[in-house]
Amino acid sequence: VVGAWFARPVMTRALPLLEPHQRSLELCVYCPKLCRAACPVSNVEASETLIPWGKMSTAYLNARGDLPLTEDHARTAWACSNCYACKERCDHGNEVATTLNVARAAYASKGLAPGAAQRVAKQFDKREAKQNKALTHLVAQSKVPTSSTGQPVLLGCGYTRALPEEALSALISVSKLEQRALSPWSKCCGLPLLQAGELERFQKHTSDLLKELPEGESLVVVDPGCAKALKTSWEQAVPGSGARVITLVERAMGHLGKMRTLPQEQRRPLRYHDPCQLGRGLGLYDQPRALLTRLMGQAPLEFDDRREHAVCSGGGGLLPSTMPETSQGMAQARIDENQACGGEEIVTACAQSLLRFRQQGAKASDLVSWLKLGLEHLQ
Ligand code: SF4
Ligand code: SF4
Repeated sequence: VVGAWFARPVMTRALPLLEPHQRSLELCVYCPKLCRAACPVSNVEASETLIPWGKMSTAYLNARGDLPLTEDHARTAWACSNCYACKERCDHGNEVATTLNVARAAYASKGLAPGAAQRVAKQFDKREAKQNKALTHLVAQSKVPTSSTGQPVLLGCGYTRALPEEALSALISVSKLEQRALSPWSKCCGLPLLQAGELERFQKHTSDLLKELPEGESLVVVDPGCAKALKTSWEQAVPGSGARVITLVERAMGHLGKMRTLPQEQRRPLRYHDPCQLGRGLGLYDQPRALLTRLMGQAPLEFDDRREHAVCSGGGGLLPSTMPETSQGMAQARIDENQACGGEEIVTACAQSLLRFRQQGAKASDLVSWLKLGLEHLQ
């Protein structure tokens, strides 16, 4: 009888989009909450419903039709910064963030997405047009040579629209590393669509982007969130194409010998924060540390919770829009950890974490600013 109960097709009733994720959901539902302490959202919110088990169980019960489909239940799928900390802690490496993003799409299809997520989806085209304008201005300011046949490069909306100095540093650094004209992409990677619950629109957007990448070219991507989103989506659409996405960190590592160590007066102590998408998302832990070591003449300082165990700054998963206070609480918790480790300036390699740290008043910089200084001697 128990076997028959397990075997029945349960996911097609209320949220059919979640059917392919039944195994992921069931792994969590029947788990004694082993990753409970890993989730930075529930650590700030202190809510059992918002631990990974709670969010996955809500989606599971909603998919079965055992729990009413309400805005409150739907909101739990948006209480995730897509940080992968639970996956790291899980013996099964369960894909919680991926599944919750599909749950967002399932809820959105029923009109249950939170207002903030609906606004992100609605304003996506307008935002992209603003990004285009900002990029045109930055490219003119940077004076880097550009050409439609140049090296394709995507900065990411966070850098282009909110961090112009770091965006300029990124353009100049890529230009010096590549030693050729650039072809800067003005389009957004589409990640906000996925996180807002517009899965089909996201898939169409990313496959259109792939068609724009010239044969034989790779796309250099500055923001690791954009890189992870494109890599995953392209790979799913066309196997092998994910490898055509290269992060700036990887590209810079390939040219480590060209970089100078900064003169003493330009150096200062920096503590490296592993961005979730660069570290747990793309497995790049050693590369940013090697770059910083080369640039600063010594290894960066470390957080107690680092590499695979680094704690999210609250910038991902649309959290700054859907749960702004929680997002701030997460950034503050990481800043407090830095203080407990001895303070000093935080250095990161992701626009969202840089913005979150600065908004909370912390002294923080981006690896790309130091990279630009380390390449200054090159034409
Ligand atoms: S992610 Fe893994 S450890 Fe966490 S609740 Fe799910 S199955 Fe358990
Ligand atoms: S991915 Fe991060 S924020 Fe999302 S449920 Fe897992 S630990 Fe929590």
